[in-house]
Amino acid sequence: MTQLVHGNSELRLAMNGLGSNICLVPTMGALHDGHAALIHAGKEFVGKDGCVVVSDFVNPKQFGQNEDFEKYPRNIEQDLKVARSAGAHILWAPSVEDVYPGQWPMDIETDPRFEILEGKSRSGHFAAVLEVVTRLFNIVQPNIAVFGEKDFQQLVFISEMAKKREPQIGILAVPTKRDFDGLALSSRNVYLSSDQRNVAHLIPDALKQGVLLASKGANLQEIKDSVKEVISKSNLIEIEYVDILNNELNELIPGIVGRILIAAKLGNTRLIDNMPILLKEES
Ligand code: AMP
Repeated sequence: MTQLVHGNSELRLAMNGLGSNICLVPTMGALHDGHAALIHAGKEFVGKDGCVVVSDFVNPKQFGQNEDFEKYPRNIEQDLKVARSAGAHILWAPSVEDVYPGQWPMDIETDPRFEILEGKSRSGHFAAVLEVVTRLFNIVQPNIAVFGEKDFQQLVFISEMAKKREPQIGILAVPTKRDFDGLALSSRNVYLSSDQRNVAHLIPDALKQGVLLASKGANLQEIKDSVKEVISKSNLIEIEYVDILNNELNELIPGIVGRILIAAKLGNTRLIDNMPILLKEES
């Protein structure tokens, strides 16, 4: 049975008596099967004596001025249903004051990689993500925290930050859960019109095509061009970026697995996706 709690002391009370192996699954709510996959992975990891806490907090600080903070989908009853059927112990929906008490400042070390990919159009986004995750870690004090590969750039920064600042917390990464046609599940998919939804599969299709070409020995430019060609089958999708980097988000060397990452817009809806990719070594 999943307990819905709000304040930090209510959370502590609910955690008392539950397992000592604590797993945190940070989310912004609007839970779907992708989030459920994170909960399942966390549950399996902590075992019978575990306690899985799903945080449900739309963090105002990580949204830019022209982003969708106000209209971001919120439905706590529906979230409770998803958390419950996935077997979470606690769904914790804190207020802004719970997460940011007073003017308590927090220093987040910046990094030039905060400005690439997602960071290019979302200034300050990653510093805000790392801050809120650190705050959630401080409140819940988990043994492990689960994140999705869907937000690959975020996963890289959180893993590095945890290793450096919170080495007692293990980071568990879960592969991207996809819809029937390959589209990565996302809380923002509900914004798509039916016409947009019908062509959105071109995003994963394009990544798959890039991965295939890489395996045949194509170079970076050829791979990027092929991604653009697949996306151009619909004039409803506009690519914001497509990039191929290693797993630390630096230059990818052939023979080592890296990532192909994309952001694309369908109308006002911005979607991201990524897949592992291996550039063939020259023979
Ligand atoms: P969000 O609520 O969108 O901030 O996502 C919360 C967590 O769920 C993040 O770690 C995401 O990477 C992860 N997540 C979101 N969508 C998916 C998906 N389709 N598959 C796996 N993980 C996901």
